[in-house]
Amino acid sequence: MHDAIVVGLGPAGSTAARALASRGFKVLAIDKEKFPRYKSCGGCISTKIERILDFSISDVIEDTVSGATFTYRAGRPVDILSDRPVGHNVMRDRFDHLLVDKAREAGAEVVEGVRVRGISEDRGSVTVFSDTASYRAKFIIGADGSSGMVGRQHFGLNPKEAAVSITAEVPYDRSSSGFKGKLFIDFGGVPFGYGWIFPKKDYLSVGIAGDALKVGGRIKDYFNSFIESHAALKGMKVEGRTGWTVPVYYEGSAPVVKGRVLLAGDTGHLVDPFLGEGIYYAIRTARSAADTVAAALSSDSADLSPYQAWLEREIFPEFRSAGRLSDLVYNHPRLWYSIIEKDPAIMLRYYDVIRGVETCDSFYGWVFNKVRSKPWKVLRRWIESRFMPA
Ligand SMILES: Cc1cc2nc3c(=O)[nH]c(=O)nc-3n(C[C@H](O)[C@H](O)[C@H](O)COP(=O)(O)OP(=O)(O)OC[C@H]3O[C@@H](n4cnc5c(N)ncnc54)[C@H](O)[C@@H]3O)c2cc1C
Repeated sequence: MHDAIVVGLGPAGSTAARALASRGFKVLAIDKEKFPRYKSCGGCISTKIERILDFSISDVIEDTVSGATFTYRAGRPVDILSDRPVGHNVMRDRFDHLLVDKAREAGAEVVEGVRVRGISEDRGSVTVFSDTASYRAKFIIGADGSSGMVGRQHFGLNPKEAAVSITAEVPYDRSSSGFKGKLFIDFGGVPFGYGWIFPKKDYLSVGIAGDALKVGGRIKDYFNSFIESHAALKGMKVEGRTGWTVPVYYEGSAPVVKGRVLLAGDTGHLVDPFLGEGIYYAIRTARSAADTVAAALSSDSADLSPYQAWLEREIFPEFRSAGRLSDLVYNHPRLWYSIIEKDPAIMLRYYDVIRGVETCDSFYGWVFNKVRSKPWKVLRRWIESRFMPA
């Protein structure tokens, strides 16, 4: 009998396992893969991560970025760079492996290469089943990612409330390119989403993601058109494509606490719906989930509801604002692009949201008031954006 079983060892699972093990609890953490393993991801972690990690990740940072070159449908490039870092680029195989090592070092029992097939709950305990074994614990933290069995089967979260994506890791010569220190973000090339090129040491992580329903099965076409038209990728061979979903937060999703089981990270749709940023939220929600489980274990209680209350208080208001921002930007990408092209200060201010210095709510309010106070300016940009060549 373990105190807790953690299903999945991505950033959420390894963080939860480490947090509980370091407090002396008996933790079993299971992943279907063996580490290091590939994870389809842009791998850009916002600098606000530094506030919640209590160890250095500098060994796995491959580039630090202070802004981006933006394009609209691969054209009209504009550099919006700030004087301070906004994010750190990592390769997920190395980053996630580091976090798994940290969990193990803290005393978590780590089992790799075992797929969890199901979970069940009895009075006073929970059981996790694989093909060959079963494991019992007082609590389960589901952290099995975007197609997570725990989130879907046990909580009924809707897999269609997600973005679909295609990514590729493209080898490049860093010394002879202008990729250092910035991202490349493309608006307008995919319905309700964006395309990106995130530079690492030896690879460019190239991808595109858009709302699953709006993309309607055409994500490969959008990806092909992105890589064929973007000047930064000219002459590069893009091979080995991977499809994945980004399970963004959605209004009206089911609670992520049920009996003795709770969810952290992607399996609970705990991903910012504007950027699709999930690594920071995986780590942050996992820490809070672990705090709640630790408190329940220490007081011999089965009450995990404080975690849901924490999400409602600390995380969901931001996600709701990010959802409103998504509606504004992705429903009108051309207009949005014309606005930031002429007024880069808007993006510079948004960088502070990414850094965690300003809330998305106050940023959205500021943008909204800007638009409302000078509607003729927006109208002019709307007209320009409609009649300017793409
Ligand atoms: C294309 C794309 C680009 C992205 N870019 C960014 C970005 O630039 N920055 C950012 O912050 N976020 C980004 N994200 C989101 C980010 O990748 C996720 O939010 C993050 O990985 C969530 O971590 P997690 O631990 O919840 O899940 P994961 O990292 O997916 O880990 C889940 C783990 O569970 C394991 N698992 C799954 N099923 C089982 C099972 N049945 N039994 C046992 N183990 C299981 C998996 O093997 C995996 O190791 C991107 C996502 C995608 C798809």
